[in-house]
Amino acid sequence: MAKFSWVTKELSALKKSGLYNDAPILKTPVSSHIKINGKPLVNFASNNYLGLANDKRLIKAAYSAMKKYGLGPAAVRSIAGTSVLHKKLENTLAKFKKAEAVLTFQSGFIANLATIPALVGEEDVIFSDELNHASIIDGCRLSKAKIMRYKHADPKDLEKQIKSNRDFRRALIITDGVFSMDGDIADLPALVNISNKYDIPLMVDDAHGEGVLGRNGRGIVDHFNLHGKVDIEVGTMSKAFGSVGGLVAGKKTLIEWLTQRARPFLFSSAMTIPDVAASLEAVKILSKSDKLVKKLWENTRYLKERLSVLGFNLGKSQTPIVPVIIGQEKTTREFAKRLRSHGIFAMPITYPTVAVGTARIRLINSAIHTKNELDKAIKAFSRVGKELKVI
Ligand SMILES: *Cc1c(COP(=O)(O)O)cnc(C)c1O
Repeated sequence: MAKFSWVTKELSALKKSGLYNDAPILKTPVSSHIKINGKPLVNFASNNYLGLANDKRLIKAAYSAMKKYGLGPAAVRSIAGTSVLHKKLENTLAKFKKAEAVLTFQSGFIANLATIPALVGEEDVIFSDELNHASIIDGCRLSKAKIMRYKHADPKDLEKQIKSNRDFRRALIITDGVFSMDGDIADLPALVNISNKYDIPLMVDDAHGEGVLGRNGRGIVDHFNLHGKVDIEVGTMSKAFGSVGGLVAGKKTLIEWLTQRARPFLFSSAMTIPDVAASLEAVKILSKSDKLVKKLWENTRYLKERLSVLGFNLGKSQTPIVPVIIGQEKTTREFAKRLRSHGIFAMPITYPTVAVGTARIRLINSAIHTKNELDKAIKAFSRVGKELKVI
């Protein structure tokens, strides 16, 4: 028997069921328009909310930083991997987010894997929204704490779960800020109340709110004006900020604790210099002007309004993530295929990522979509929607 014959079998099963993930290859920079297999497409699939992934100012900042500080860290943060630029980024982010302190990580995913096990362990309980991101789920598992999933965006169910699980040493409430498949926002004020009432720390992962929500894109805590009231804010520089990296914001003591106990800080090399410099530039751009954030929301309003008028179901989105809910899995995949033939690149999202019968095309707005590009998408949706009898 070949050692991995089961893998071959599993792979062909995936391909047969249509669940095989065939990653598209981009030969162009990430922008509002890209090319895949030589075909020009308007891009609604990237988390490039502000268009910073290919912004000249970020590229320039990365270049100059590399000239001065080099490329790789060649060490973990706690040994010789902490550059003065890491500290500068952390201080700048703390000021931007009005938090006491910030610690950066190699990615948002890693920030969750780092933070959760540093705060809870075997004798503890985590109360987690059932639709939380995979990195939160993995961080929870890694911690070995008991995981209680509460109903999505349902503070009443959270409270019920807390009341019936009082037997713990420590506990943690964790939620996504913006949920990536529906574009809805967690009811953070209600969660803060529960967190205070039961004296359980609250952690929010604001990956899709960073650069999108709040004044100048300061994030979900700013959006709800809850500065200092959310104990732990996790974020990413890999979406709106156009680079790659993760962050944790909170009280000084918490951040200090993470520098002592967060395993990816201690055992995985630091963010690279160009990533740090580009992130720093992104925060600087946002601190100075809300132009990009405003444009993002203007584009979002336009696209949502036109698609609604056409008769599409946009679910409960409150953000630039727009789920166009088609329903059937097969129709949704066909819908995406036809959109692509009309020059529109958007992801079909089907079971098991979302519930059966709620398959959707997910559109992610960007500040750099032109009106022409948005109109092209609206036209394609209208045509394909009628062809497939969705509208
Ligand atoms: C995208 C995302 C992450 C991962 O961030 P990366 O920086 O890409 O690793 C983590 N949490 C949530 C909620 C996300 O949406």
